[in-house]
Amino acid sequence: PQYASTGLDVWTMMNQVAASVNAVNLGQGYMSFPPKEFIKRAAQEALVESTHNQYAPPRGRPGLLEQVGIHFANRLSRPIDPSSELSIHAGANEALLSVFTAFLEHGKGQEVILMEPAFDQYTPNIIMSGGNPVYVPLRVQAGDKDPSKEVISSHDWKLDMNELEAAINENTRIIVVNTPHNPVGKVFSREELEQIGDIAARHNLLILSDEVYEHLTYGVEHISIATLPGMWERTVTVGSAGKMFGVTGWRVGWSVGPAELIQPTLSAHTRIVFTSNTPLQEGVASAFRMAKENDFLKIQCQEYERRRDRLMAIFDDIGLPYVVPDGAYYLLVNAKAIKIPSDYSFPDFIEERGENFKLVYFFIKEFGVSGIPPTEFYSEPHKHLANDYIRFAFCKTDEGLDEAAKCLQSLK
Ligand code: GLN
Repeated sequence: PQYASTGLDVWTMMNQVAASVNAVNLGQGYMSFPPKEFIKRAAQEALVESTHNQYAPPRGRPGLLEQVGIHFANRLSRPIDPSSELSIHAGANEALLSVFTAFLEHGKGQEVILMEPAFDQYTPNIIMSGGNPVYVPLRVQAGDKDPSKEVISSHDWKLDMNELEAAINENTRIIVVNTPHNPVGKVFSREELEQIGDIAARHNLLILSDEVYEHLTYGVEHISIATLPGMWERTVTVGSAGKMFGVTGWRVGWSVGPAELIQPTLSAHTRIVFTSNTPLQEGVASAFRMAKENDFLKIQCQEYERRRDRLMAIFDDIGLPYVVPDGAYYLLVNAKAIKIPSDYSFPDFIEERGENFKLVYFFIKEFGVSGIPPTEFYSEPHKHLANDYIRFAFCKTDEGLDEAAKCLQSLK
């Protein structure tokens, strides 16, 4: 089927390539460091409670709903009713699928606008829900800077609002916003979000705002589009405990929005997974409570900023330019300067995926540091925009980054 092509997903594929040469894995965005003690303890203690091991209500455990409600009341500067304006999900991914399932109908040719690069789960999730993805690429506008020779800003990746509006027709239902953005690291400005919101309002569209990296911005402010005038009513915002507490394997996420939008989302969630796992919901609820006491999110953000700066310094040192991320935990490196020998041989599963996969494969095999080919985040007509880039994740230990630095010395 179209949504689940028989080819390997890019994460599994690149993990396998990395393992084959024992590369330092800066590919998939999982943390190579353990969660903080208080977070692990929260989960351990939750499991011991006998009442925490059976089905949760589909909407979520009351203790977690309360904590997520407090978080969003602060983030969105409005009261949040946890009994109608929130739902807990089996990871942000399932929250996204639930929104698409709730608001798209099969067989009607309904469309969803994605901004490329677009996280690779959006497209199959839309198609499974009966919708058609329509792609509008971010375009690099860095003045006279050549991104293959000079460092540019993630803010240089711009959405052309005319192009966005031109992609909308009577079949369009949803615009997906992702800020801070994976993989560019762009944090959308208030002005950009106002323009997107204005277009959504004029065409009466729903906004699905994927804000799983909301707590990771470096010197710029994260703005939730739901806080802009008139936007709460048409926006479902999605977040992730995995990203927030460094526990991507826990699979706990959430959706927040007005009751009219969360009710259908919750109904879809109920029929997809029924409920998310109980003990880790309790674990996340405790983690939220304790995080407030020790200023965890602020300290964590500083740690990530340090890792970002370290990884950027590594590429400064070897002279490969990159896109400075203002948020999230990925670095897009422009590797156009790397020349692949014409007689280099690639396995078929790489060869058939195009130039960018070949570049990333060559990089992993020759330099022992793995990344992700960002063309996987593009539709066919726009893949060329990312051919020169490799995405590296910096949610990794200092030792891992040091090891990567050593491996890359030969590039100097
Ligand atoms: N969000 C993470 C990333 O972009 C993990 C994605 C995944 O494994 N599906 O790396």
